[in-house]
Amino acid sequence: MYLVLLGPPGAGKGTQAERLEKELHLPHIASGDLFRENLKRKTELGLLAKKYMDRGDLVPDDVTIAMVRQRLQRPDCDQGAILDGFPRTLAQAKSLDEMLAEMGRRLDGVLYIAVPDEELVRRLSGRWICRRCQTPYHTVFSPPAQKGVCDACGGELYQRDDDRPETVRARLKVYHQQTAPLIDYYRRAGLLVEVDGSGDIETVSTALLKAIRSLMK
Ligand code: ADP
Ligand code: ADP
Ligand code: ZN
Repeated sequence: MYLVLLGPPGAGKGTQAERLEKELHLPHIASGDLFRENLKRKTELGLLAKKYMDRGDLVPDDVTIAMVRQRLQRPDCDQGAILDGFPRTLAQAKSLDEMLAEMGRRLDGVLYIAVPDEELVRRLSGRWICRRCQTPYHTVFSPPAQKGVCDACGGELYQRDDDRPETVRARLKVYHQQTAPLIDYYRRAGLLVEVDGSGDIETVSTALLKAIRSLMK
């Protein structure tokens, strides 16, 4: 089963993808995590992506598409994948259709996690991420058992540079201009399922699983 999690920055895509990964036994592929891993390893791609990420802009389509294509070709994506943060533009969405077609597969559904902008700012300003396994936490809404330490792997938690208020504003603008049009694109394709993302983490998880079950029928 190939699923896309669509939604603004801070909607809870990463949080929910981790839960779905365990529930559905599908790999979680987050384009933002792939860029951050590249940056940590100081690859050419990572250094290029950083320039855009620091401004809250999207990394150009050609490099983003090539990176995700490579990831999808790994054997663990044979039976499906949960895509988080990709596609973010119409060009990426069209490429994804092509990539899956080349693999003899197709997209099964797009889960759109809808959250109002004011709530997103609250979520992003309190977000802490694990340096090792990328699990997201929140100082208030999802705190780790021990401050600064990842529950899942014991790794160190840090705040992302691009979660600063100025950059968050830029990212939200980019989301509304470049990514929100995908809602209509996927609705027309009959693939969109909208889930209310404004409730607490458990409530959203339950709604997502229900939506996925409806897609499987
Ligand atoms: P969030 O989880 O807050 O939505 P991500 O970790 O998905 O943020 O993305 C962080 C940054 O990485 C984005 O602001 C953008 O610069 C870059 N990025 C991630 N995914 C894509 C993509 N599909 N296309 C272009 N840029 C991307
Ligand atoms: P995205 O991947 O869409 O950018 P994340 O999953 O990283 O979003 O979540 C953004 C922040 O909000 C994190 O700090 C996370 O712990 C928190 N969060 C996620 N879902 C919820 C929710 N339903 N209610 C409150 N906080 C949430
Ligand atoms: Zn961790």
